[in-house]
Parts: sequence; C-alpha cells; structure tokens
Amino acid sequence: MGVCPSATVSLLRDNFTGALRPWARPEVLTCTPWGAPIIWDGTFDPDVAQQEASQQNLTIGLTVFAVGRYLEKYLERFLETAEQHFMVGQRVVYYVFTERPGAVPRVALGPDRRLRVERVARERRWQDVSMARMRTLHAALGGWLGREAHFVFCMDVDQHFSGAFGPEALAESVAQLHSWHYHWPRWLLPFERDARSAAALSRGEGDFYYHAAVFGGSVAALRGLTAHCALGLAWDRARGLEARWHDESHLNKFFWLHKPAKVLSPEFCWSPDIGPRAEIRRPRLLWAPKEYRLLRN
Ligand code: UDP
Ligand code: MN
Repeated sequence: MGVCPSATVSLLRDNFTGALRPWARPEVLTCTPWGAPIIWDGTFDPDVAQQEASQQNLTIGLTVFAVGRYLEKYLERFLETAEQHFMVGQRVVYYVFTERPGAVPRVALGPDRRLRVERVARERRWQDVSMARMRTLHAALGGWLGREAHFVFCMDVDQHFSGAFGPEALAESVAQLHSWHYHWPRWLLPFERDARSAAALSRGEGDFYYHAAVFGGSVAALRGLTAHCALGLAWDRARGLEARWHDESHLNKFFWLHKPAKVLSPEFCWSPDIGPRAEIRRPRLLWAPKEYRLLRN
C-alpha cells in the first residue's frame, strides 16, 4: 500500500517514492483514503525518482494501439513526443499494436530505446477496437512484453506528451485521474450503473473516476488487471451488454476492487479543452481534439 503522508520510507522493490512531498501542494488531494500517493507536480523529486529507477536497471514498456485511421492521425506525434518526455534516461520498449505494421512511421529512437510492432486484427466498431485491447494486452504481457519489461504503461494514441513523464509515475499499479471528472462529486461520476454488467458499481461505490487512456504497473499486476477486464467484457458481451464507457468501465471496477498503489493527477493526462486551471501546473500528456467524425465509422 501507499506511503503518504509521511513519504520518507523508500520502498525500492515494489513502489517508487521519488522522495514524495505531499505537503508541497496543500490545495489538492495528494493521498488517497487507502494511503496511496496522488502524484502532482511539485510533490516528487524527479532526480530522486530517476536515481531510484536507474539503480534497478529497469526496462519500462509503453503499449499503444493504432488501428485504422488512428495510425496516420496520431501515432507519429505520440512516439516522437514520447522520445522527448517518456522515461528519458531509462530503458524503454514501445509496443505498437496495429493491423498494418508496414505503415508504422519510422521514428528516430534514442539509445536504449526500441520499438516492436505487433499485428492485431482490425475490429469493425471503434468500441470493439478499444475493448479488444484488454485481451491483446493480456496475451502480450504473458509473452515477450512480459518477459522483457518490469513495468508497463498502457496508453491511448490520441494524445501527445508535453512534459516529463518519468519514473515518479512507476508503481505496482497506477491509475490516472480523469481530467474531466476529478473534481466532480462521487455520485455524479459516470461509472456503469446497470447491475447486470460485470463493470457495475452501485451508488456509494467507486473512489475516483479513472481514465483508461493511461494505466500502468508491474507485469504481474497488469496481467491481473487485463484478465479481469477482458473477462468482464466477454461476460457482458455473452449477455448482450456493453458497459457505458466500454473497457474504461471495467477498468474502474477493477480499481475499485484492487486499489491502485499510485494515482496520477490530471496533470499527467490533461484535456486542453477544459481551459486553464490553477492546480494544473505542467501537463505531461495532452489529449488531441476529438475528431470522431473523421476517425470513427
Ligand atoms: N483505437 C484505435 N482505432 C480505433 C479506435 C480506437 O487505434 O478505431 C485505439 C486508440 O489507441 C485510441 C484508443 O483505442 O486512442 C481508445 O479509443 P478513443 O481514443 O477513440 O476513445 P476515447 O478516448 O475517445 O474514449
Ligand atoms: Mn482516447
């Protein structure tokens, strides 16, 4: 479990403290009720986080799906900006999942950084592309990816990095606060409410609303997460159900049952459409504008 508010203990093997200073941001919530740190700009020391990670000689995976028009539209910028900002100084392996490996842009990679491309089938509906990720990730984590990486982040492609996203974000399991919902009252959060769905949370359940565009953790934790979500999705489908926000609804159910060891503030995945907010100091990832009519069929 987490280490705040007295984040002085260095849990080198199963969590990264990055010398946490939760008191440095008194205007925001920096600790969950179960004691996990919520990482805001200024609450960690990036150099300490870097040293802690380097001492362990980690390989960090970053998975991203680029299927159909999402490939031409987003992948190059996602990867180019990841080269500038994602885990710089660590060993990184990108895993790109696409139905057209030949169309993946050739992005110049820094030393100790490589890119692997895996072919996936193209699902017909965009919802199915999104949901199929859980099953595909589960298989990948049980194969190559799981063997070569210690920690993995799984991200949407329709965003780009705009600031350092470093080892301060690493932990056994990591959830991302949704930038549109982090300040909403709990009862308004868009959890799945249909009790027949495997993703259902009843009134009073749910801690925060997490965004499926960023989640991460150790290979073992992500094996569990992806298995849970893939099973829930299949269970719903077999009964003709589809949760309100697809794989994101199942992810939220998982993190209600298995609390994340670390939570990332909305600074780590921010929607510029929201406009400036005093507490959003340095966004690390920015959502691309939604151009659904162009991208979805
Ligand atoms: N995706 C894709 N092709 C599609 C639909 C989705 O590659 O046709 C992938 C892509 O990585 C995308 C993610 O699935 O970022 C989730 O879909 P989307 O971003 O459209 O969902 P939203 O963020 O709007 O809920
Ligand atoms: Mn997205």
